[in-house]
Amino acid sequence: MLATILHKPGDISCEEVADPEILLPTDAIIKLSASCICGSDLWPFRGLQPVDRPMHMGHEYCGVVVEVGAEVRTVRPGQFVVGSFCISDNTCPHCRFGFQSSCMQREFMSGAQAPYARVPLADGTLVATAEVPSPDLVPHLLAVSDVLGTGWYAADAAEVRQGSTVVVVGDGAVGLMGVLAAKEMGAERIIAMSRHESRQRLAREFGATDIVAERGEEGVARIRDLTGGVGADSVLECVGTAQSFDQALACARPGGTIGYVGVPHGVTFDGQRLFFGQKRMLGGPAPVRRFLPDLIDRVLNGKIRPGKVFDLELPLAHVADGYRAMDERRAVKVMLTL
Ligand SMILES: [Zn+2]
Repeated sequence: MLATILHKPGDISCEEVADPEILLPTDAIIKLSASCICGSDLWPFRGLQPVDRPMHMGHEYCGVVVEVGAEVRTVRPGQFVVGSFCISDNTCPHCRFGFQSSCMQREFMSGAQAPYARVPLADGTLVATAEVPSPDLVPHLLAVSDVLGTGWYAADAAEVRQGSTVVVVGDGAVGLMGVLAAKEMGAERIIAMSRHESRQRLAREFGATDIVAERGEEGVARIRDLTGGVGADSVLECVGTAQSFDQALACARPGGTIGYVGVPHGVTFDGQRLFFGQKRMLGGPAPVRRFLPDLIDRVLNGKIRPGKVFDLELPLAHVADGYRAMDERRAVKVMLTL
């Protein structure tokens, strides 16, 4: 089959590889209904994460099970499934506590920018739908697998409640999904920080009530103005740079909470600032598995349409164009058809 391989930074291509096979009795093989490119795929593509050997890219997936290992009990061939980018058993103490992304058997999914993929720990990782959904729902279900699940976790970790005032730092796909999540959780005010007109429009579509285009001290001053000098109850940090963390910390009110899901690169914290700032923080790789059943239901019921975040669709063979479009910020998120 054709699959996406990153050889070295900037060198990505779609090439012939062996079909995936069952390696362990707890594995499943799925035929993907669609795939996509993640903002985090850009870290190795840009050389900001080492590439020691060719990487099989892709960790967002949904599709139909074609084969299962001898010990798989909860999914069977023919079922449509959605999984998380974190492989988890869903039974260990961390999984039971709702932190499947810290599962004692955790692995990170790979190889999903391809027509077929092997999913380890299938029983714990995959959630099956009652029926195979109609094709128009596929983009929305695919989004659940990572980008929505991660935005949802940012809002959950930031303790967004009915009536909350929320600031979302970052207008990438995850930030936009954070806006959608905050809206679903009943936030009254959702301030999206974005400088790009097309992303501002999407943010409003997903539920943003205000847009702040300024950054740095000016951005913080605008948030102060909009919140009566108080700051936000909840801040979603969806970028991962020193500047964005700075922004997030400065925008939260004392006692407020920051949910951070941008993988930090070059971020350090000042102890005294945290001490006197009195702000809560929870973040990390999203335990998407915790949210999957609920998010799948919301999509199937037509309550949410997170797939609107895909603004460019390309065939898998043109995957390199997709990486470039996202790298150059010409696309928010690229869906790959198979
Ligand atoms: Zn576990």
